[in-house]
Amino acid sequence: MSGLVVVGASYAGIQAALSARDSGYAERITVVADDHLLPYQRPPLSKDFLLDKVTQDNLVLRDDAFFKLKQIDLILETRVHAIDRHARKLSINGNTVLDFDKLFIGTGSHARRLALPGSNLDGVCYLRSIRDAADLKERLRHAAEIVVIGGGFIGLEVAASASKLGKKVTVIESAPRLLERSVSPLVSQFLLDLHTRHNVDVRLNDTVAGIEGQNGRAAFVTTQGGACLRADLVLVGIGGVANDQLARDAQLNCTNGIVVDDHGMTDDPGIFAAGDCANHYNAYAGDWLRLESVQNAQDQAKAAGLAIAGKTGPYDSVPRFWSDQYDAKLQTVGISRNFDRQSVRGSLESGQFSVFYYKQDRLCAVDSINRAGDQMAARRLIGSGISPSPEQAADLSFDFKSLLTTINAVGA
Ligand SMILES: Cc1cc2nc3c(=O)[nH]c(=O)nc-3n(C[C@H](O)[C@H](O)[C@H](O)COP(=O)(O)OP(=O)(O)OC[C@H]3O[C@@H](n4cnc5c(N)ncnc54)[C@H](O)[C@@H]3O)c2cc1C
Repeated sequence: MSGLVVVGASYAGIQAALSARDSGYAERITVVADDHLLPYQRPPLSKDFLLDKVTQDNLVLRDDAFFKLKQIDLILETRVHAIDRHARKLSINGNTVLDFDKLFIGTGSHARRLALPGSNLDGVCYLRSIRDAADLKERLRHAAEIVVIGGGFIGLEVAASASKLGKKVTVIESAPRLLERSVSPLVSQFLLDLHTRHNVDVRLNDTVAGIEGQNGRAAFVTTQGGACLRADLVLVGIGGVANDQLARDAQLNCTNGIVVDDHGMTDDPGIFAAGDCANHYNAYAGDWLRLESVQNAQDQAKAAGLAIAGKTGPYDSVPRFWSDQYDAKLQTVGISRNFDRQSVRGSLESGQFSVFYYKQDRLCAVDSINRAGDQMAARRLIGSGISPSPEQAADLSFDFKSLLTTINAVGA
């Protein structure tokens, strides 16, 4: 037996290896990763790292000593090129072959590329890895005018960081509102006002036509709406794409990511996947989802690690995400898609509020700005299927603990 091989050493890969080991998996565990560094945190790359509040060293998730302690072999700077499912072998580094008994795929996602005239010019950047972030930080230092393409999480976080650094920032978003796929119109409007207050020029309902260069470097961004914006630096944040090519080539079932069950298992019972590269049926959404969040990567990989060790503990976490922009911490729990009623707790003017979303009288999601306590309660309420009434949610004197105590008392 060759044990477990994990491809990718980020949140999902490391969690799967640890969870398998801690659940009693006694065989060899090998993690293969194409990164040149020890596994590191990605969320600070668009925030504190750009602002010089943390260094590369602060971002390391687990050090060498930890992997030794857990008897997990880490092979860095090595890319897995192919999976031979029938021979149970992986090909790495040209001719080298690695046997596996069980395989975990935690290959994550990559930034969607812009395919427009000028998109290959120097100064057109993406943000996914620590290498990208170090490059972006250096370029930001010398740039005065920045155009961000895409009003999603990455684009808005970089816009906030660049604005804090005193840069002139323009965000171009093709949708009629910011973060259209993730938050409700009310939260979109709050974020639009927040960025506008910080002098970020947000242009909705417009798309980029092309990027024009001077001496081989990006210099202007033109839009379908007729704008021509000066740009020393262009950051493209137009979404992520699952790294599922390895799995596709191995004929594993893939649809917008590697299709897995609630144990992270693919249609091959010895092969598992989780995190940004995986697509699963999410009970809270009532739909198939590929989530890009730290919490999802870790919780899903935890379930996969248990299954690899022969234990059960299916993935059943309420989806969660957070984003930091200026002094606003946005936290979201649940899936608000298709909600039919909302209730606001706190006030938008104070910059501290939560929006409770309901689908047929059932609480399905809560977005909060600077109200972490609401998130803690909402996580438990949604997880237990208990809904405060919209009136209770809006009443700041109403304590959710009273509902949660009832849940505990009945053993829910
Ligand atoms: C700038 C930024 C900010 C973010 N902010 C937040 C946030 O505030 N909150 C939040 O919840 N989430 C945030 N995210 C998303 C979060 O980081 C991801 O959801 C999470 O990293 C997913 O973990 P993962 O292990 O599935 O994949 P990844 O972190 O993408 O890791 C996959 C790893 O596999 C490696 N790999 C891929 N293919 C191969 C191969 N063939 N061989 C070897 N190695 C391979 C990749 O190089 C990579 O290191 C942010 C992401 C970015 C980029």
